[in-house]
Amino acid sequence: MEELTKKIISLTKRKGFVFPSSLIYGGFSSTYDFGPRGAALKNNLKKAWWNEMTKRQKDVVGLDSAIIMNPEIWQASGHLSKGFADKLSECKSCHQRFKDLEEDGKSTEECPNCGGELMEPRDFNLMMKTFVGPVEDNATTAYLRAETCQGIFVNFKNVMDSMRVDLPFGIAQIGKSFRNEITPGNFIFRMREFEQMEMQWFCKKEDADDFFEFWLNQRLNWYERMGIDMSKLRKNEIGEDERAHYAQRQVDIEYKFPFGWGEIEGIHNRGDWDLSNHSKHSDADFEVDGEYPWVIETSIGVERSFLAFLTDSYHEMEEGREDDSGKKETVLRIGRKLAPTKVAVFPLLKNKESLVEKAEEVFDKIRKDFASIYDETGSIGKRYRRQDEVGTPLCVTVDFDSLEDDSVTIRERDSMKQIRVNIEDLNKVISQFMKGEEFISLGKEV
Ligand code: ATP
Repeated sequence: MEELTKKIISLTKRKGFVFPSSLIYGGFSSTYDFGPRGAALKNNLKKAWWNEMTKRQKDVVGLDSAIIMNPEIWQASGHLSKGFADKLSECKSCHQRFKDLEEDGKSTEECPNCGGELMEPRDFNLMMKTFVGPVEDNATTAYLRAETCQGIFVNFKNVMDSMRVDLPFGIAQIGKSFRNEITPGNFIFRMREFEQMEMQWFCKKEDADDFFEFWLNQRLNWYERMGIDMSKLRKNEIGEDERAHYAQRQVDIEYKFPFGWGEIEGIHNRGDWDLSNHSKHSDADFEVDGEYPWVIETSIGVERSFLAFLTDSYHEMEEGREDDSGKKETVLRIGRKLAPTKVAVFPLLKNKESLVEKAEEVFDKIRKDFASIYDETGSIGKRYRRQDEVGTPLCVTVDFDSLEDDSVTIRERDSMKQIRVNIEDLNKVISQFMKGEEFISLGKEV
C-alpha cells in the first residue's frame, strides 16, 4: 500500500474518523465504522449534497425508501440476472475466488493463492441475500438493495401524484447499499456495505442528452464549490462494452487517489430501462403522455467521496507549523462545510480559574450553534496543532485581556492569521465565516 494511504488510514484511526469494524473480534473483512469525527464529516457531506439537490437545484424532491424490498424488483431491474454478476474462477483447494485473471495476464488454471487447480469461471451474483420471516427457503428469500435508485423507480407514480410534479423533475435519496464485492479493498474505497447519494431525473426522451450534460456540469461544479482540487478530478467517458447493463451513456467522475484514478460518482443515462421493466413486471403503468420518461442519474458514494475529500485536504509536515519541539505537523485543510468540528475554545492557561470560567462561558455560547470542543491541556501552540490535524477551521482563545475587555482572539487554520472579536459578536462572526466570508475582514487583525 502507498505510503500516503497508510498515513491517512493511521490518522483516521488515531483521530476517531474511521475504525476497522469488529476489531475486538479480529475485524471483519472490508467493513469500517465511522468514529465521532468521521460520523460528523459524513453527516456534513450528506447534508451538503442534500441541500445542493433538494434546495439549490429546482424541481428535485427527496425520498427515503426501504432497504429490503419485494425481490421481484431485482428481477425486473436486471440485478438478479447476468447484468449484475461477476465471472469468477474458484480454487478447488482453498476455495478463494478470483476475478479478471485472464485480463490481468495471469494463469486461468493455477490458483494465485495456493497453486491449486482453478474451476471454470462462473457467474457470482453481487446481490446480498437474506431471509424475511422465520423460515429459510426460496419463498422467503429477499435481498439487500444493491443501489438506492430502485426504491425511487418503484415510487415514481407515488411521488408524481402526491407532490403534483410534472416532467422534468428529480427524486433524490441517500441511503445504504450492499454488494457482495469479490475484491473489496483500498480502505473505504470498495466495501460491501456503503452509502449512496443518488438523484434520478425524469424527462422526455428528446431532452435526455441535454439534461445529461446539464447534470454532469452541475455535479462537477459542486465538487469545485466544495473546495476539491479540480486538477485531481477528471471525467471518464465509458465505452459501450464497459457500461452498466442499464446505461445508454455513462461518464464516471474520477478522483486521483494515491493508488490511482478511481470513480467517485457515475452520471448515467438509464433510458427507459427501469420504468419500462417495472411496468412489464408489475401492475404499474409508468407511462407519461403515452411514453416512458427517460432517466438521467447522478450516483455518488458517500464513503468514496469522503475518502476523496479527506485525501485532498491532507497536507503533511507544513513549514511554519512546527510544534514546540520544532516538529512539523500535518494539517487537514478540509472545507468549512465539511469540517467535523468548526470551533475549538481554549483558556490561555488551565490553572487560572478566572480564565477557565470565562472560556467555559464562551464555549457554552458557541456550542449551541456550532460543532465545537473545549481544550485546556498543553501549550496554545500544541492545541493549535492538535486542531489543525483534524481540520478544525477556527480556534478561539480566552486570555487575560478577555477578562478586561470581553473580547477574544480567533485564529484561522489555513492562513494562521488572528483577529480580535467581541464576545457578544462571536457567533455572528463565526456564522459569517462559515458562509464563506474572508476571515481577515471579520475582525481587527492582531
Ligand atoms: P465500480 O466500477 O468501482 O465497482 P460501479 O460503477 O459499480 O463502481 P455504480 O454502480 O455506478 O458503481 O455506483 C455509483 C457509486 O456508488 C460509485 O461511483 C461509488 O461512489 C459508489 N460505490 C459503488 N460500489 C461501491 C462499493 N463497493 N464501495 C463503496 N462505494 C461504492
